[in-house]
Amino acid sequence: MSYDRVVISSGHGKYVRGASGVLDEVDEAGRAVEQVADELRQRDAEVTTYHDDVSQSQSENLNRIVDFHNSKQRDLDVSVHFNAYVETDKPMGTEVLFVTQSALAGEMSSAIAEAGDLIDRGAKKRTDLFFLNNTEMPSILIETCFVDSEADAATYQAQFSSICDAIASVLGGSQEVVEPPPGQTEPPPDKAPPTLRLDVEVTGEIAIIINGVPVT
Ligand SMILES: [Zn+2]
Repeated sequence: MSYDRVVISSGHGKYVRGASGVLDEVDEAGRAVEQVADELRQRDAEVTTYHDDVSQSQSENLNRIVDFHNSKQRDLDVSVHFNAYVETDKPMGTEVLFVTQSALAGEMSSAIAEAGDLIDRGAKKRTDLFFLNNTEMPSILIETCFVDSEADAATYQAQFSSICDAIASVLGGSQEVVEPPPGQTEPPPDKAPPTLRLDVEVTGEIAIIINGVPVT
């Protein structure tokens, strides 16, 4: 399954902060959303991102994010969050929350876990989340990893780009446009010299001009 048009937002907002520990949820969600969007655009998906830098209260924040999603033409709504529990040095893992998108959530959780060396906590049905309940298109909410787990934070930072790449691959397919590595250019294509073949029969007085040069 791949989605042509996706709206992705970061959870919480500039003034309505989320969880913080080793990582700050809002900062990391914003960074991950933009990186995933870049990866998706390389897969020719139409992506719109949103970060709420305005709201001053939680209800304003939830409504503003959902209103933004619902104002766009899209096939899928994605919200990026980070989890929190208790400060620990133990690994905690990734999970993906859903109401209707069980298969997508499971696929996403395992892809993130594999790419990020994170425990796969799997897909979790949650019927109490404003985002999942009020976005009008199919939606998932990614809890990337735990901000208060030192193990999660370390592997997340180390594997950031592969995690974002994995999310984009689940959403947009894996047919990423192949670019040559930096400093390495593709060999020039074998180019045949230009040829011109004329097979005409004319009578009377004519002028033939090829590349601006009269041919007599
Ligand atoms: Zn959150």
